[in-house]
Amino acid sequence: MTTVLERGNKMTPKGSKSTSHGAFNFIAGKWVRSPKGGSFENINPATEEVIDVYPDSTAEDVDQAVKAARKAFDSWRKVPVAKRGEILLKVMQVLVSQKEEIAKAMTREMGKILRETRGDVQEAIDTAFYYAGEGRRLFGQTTTSELPDKFSMSIRMPMGVCGLITPWNFPAAIPSWKVFPALICGNTVVLKPASDTPESSMRLVKALEEAGVPSGVVNLVYGRGSTTGKYLLEHPGVSLISFTGSSDIGSQIGASCGKSFKKCSLEMGGKNAQIVMEDADLDLALEGAVWGAFGTSGQRCTATSRVIVHEKVFKQFEERFVDRVKKIKVGNGLKDTTEMGPVVNKGQLEKVLEYIEIGKNKDKARLLTGGERYTEGECAKGYFLKPAVFEGTPKMRIAQEEIFGPVTVLLKVKSFEEAIQVLNDTAFGLSGSIYTRDVNRVMRAIRDMETGITYINAPTIGAEVHMPFGGVKQTGNGHREAGTAALDIFSDWKAVYVDYSGTLQRAQIDTHD
Ligand code: NAP
Repeated sequence: MTTVLERGNKMTPKGSKSTSHGAFNFIAGKWVRSPKGGSFENINPATEEVIDVYPDSTAEDVDQAVKAARKAFDSWRKVPVAKRGEILLKVMQVLVSQKEEIAKAMTREMGKILRETRGDVQEAIDTAFYYAGEGRRLFGQTTTSELPDKFSMSIRMPMGVCGLITPWNFPAAIPSWKVFPALICGNTVVLKPASDTPESSMRLVKALEEAGVPSGVVNLVYGRGSTTGKYLLEHPGVSLISFTGSSDIGSQIGASCGKSFKKCSLEMGGKNAQIVMEDADLDLALEGAVWGAFGTSGQRCTATSRVIVHEKVFKQFEERFVDRVKKIKVGNGLKDTTEMGPVVNKGQLEKVLEYIEIGKNKDKARLLTGGERYTEGECAKGYFLKPAVFEGTPKMRIAQEEIFGPVTVLLKVKSFEEAIQVLNDTAFGLSGSIYTRDVNRVMRAIRDMETGITYINAPTIGAEVHMPFGGVKQTGNGHREAGTAALDIFSDWKAVYVDYSGTLQRAQIDTHD
C-alpha cells in the first residue's frame, strides 16, 4: 500500500503552520488547527502545483473530534427525524447554489473533467434530497404477536459515533453517501477524507455547517490513513466504521473492527467487465465501453477494466474501439473540450505504468494503443497518460488485478457461457454489463453474474443514489450503500414487545401444551 508521501503529496514538518485560512480540521463546530500535527500539500495533478496545505492530524486531534461527536450524540439522537431531514434539505440547497464552485475545486485537486465533477456534486445533492425525504419515513415494522394482548414492532436506533473513511475518486459523492444516512439515522460523525482531495470534503462540511448542523454532529479530521485513519479506526468511542477504498486497506480495517466488535461496512475494489455478444448493437456497446473504461481516467471502482467480446464481432469491435480510444482528448479537466484528465497523483501514475510493463513483458499481452506519458504539449507536465488498450487472456495479471487507471483489456470468447465464466473469474464482484438483444441471455446474465450491480445494454458505471450500491466477493463485506440499504448500515434494529395482558405470558411455552 502506498502512503500519501509515496504517492506524491508532500508532508511538511510537525508544528509547521498552515498557509491557508481554510485548511483546518472541523471539530465541535469550529475550524481548528492541529496544534501538534504536521501538514500535507494538496497538489493539482494536471499542473503539479500546490493548491493548499492541510493538517496531518494527531491522535489528540482525533480524540477531540470523537469526544465532540460523542457529546453531540446525546442531543442529536433526540432531534425529531423530520427536523434532521429539514437540515439535509438545506444542505442540498447550499450544494445546489455552490455546485459549479465545488466542481471546479474538485477538478483542480483530483483531475477528472468538469462535466464529471459536476456529476459528483450532483450525486451529493441527490443524496441529500433522498435522505431528507427519509426524515418523513425511516420506517420500522409493526407486526403481530403469538400471544394475546401483546404488541410487537421493530424500530431503527442510531449507533453513536460513526468513523467515515473515504477515497479520492468521488470526493463529494462518497462522503455524502455516508454522512447523510448516518445523520438521518441520528448518529454523529467524524470524517477522515482521502488526502488527495481535502478541499472537496472541506466544502461539503462547510455546506453542512451553513445548513445549521449543530456543533459536534459533524467533525472533519485530515491526515494520513496510516496514522489519522488508524487512530479513528481504533478509537474506543467510535461505534461504527464505514470505509470505501482498496481491498488491501479494507481487509486491515475489517480485521481491526472485528477485534474491537465495531460494526463495519466496507466498499472496495473491482475488476469489472462488459460483455459484447455477437447480436449486440455495436455502436452502443462501443460507446459504453469507451465511457466505462476511460471515464474518470479509469479511476472508478466500477470502471470497465475488461471488455469480453464474442469472437464473431471481435475484430470489428477491436478496430473501432482502438480507433475511438486514440481520439480521446486528454488534457486539463477544466477545459470544456477535454474528455479525459490526468490520474490523481504521481504514485498512481507510476502504478499504472508498472502495470503497462507487466502487461507487455510478463503477461505478453498485445498493447494495441496508449500506455505512455506525454513528452510534449500541455500534458507533458502533470500526471497524464495515453489511454491504453490491451488484447489479452483472462488469467493474465492485467485481467485479474485492479489497475485503477486508463487501461482496459479486450478478451475474446466463443460463447455466452464462456463470457459469463470469464466475467466471474476474478476475486472481485462489483459491476458487470452485457450488450445483447437476446432476452433469454439477458435473464440468464442477471441470474449468473457474480456482481452486486448488473447492467443490461449499459456500461459498468453509472449508479443512481436510490439503488443499493456495493459488491460481492472481495469487493465488500455484505453491506450496501445508497438507497434504503444504507439505513441498515447506520442503524441498529430494536425489537419492542408491549404486553398489555396484565399477566406473565411465556412465548413458545404458553402457546403450546
Ligand atoms: P485507499 O488507499 O484504500 O484509501 C482509502 C481511504 O483509506 C483514504 O482516506 C486513506 O487515507 C485511508 N487509509 C489508508 N490506509 C489506512 C489505514 N491503514 N487505516 C485507516 N485508513 C486508511 O484507496 P484509494 O486509493 O483512496 O481509493 C481507490 C480504491 O478505492 C480502489 O481500490 C477503488 O476500487 C476503491 N473504491 C471503491 C468504491 C466502492 O464503493 N466499492 C468506490 C470508490 C473507490 P489517505 O488518503 O490519507 O491514504
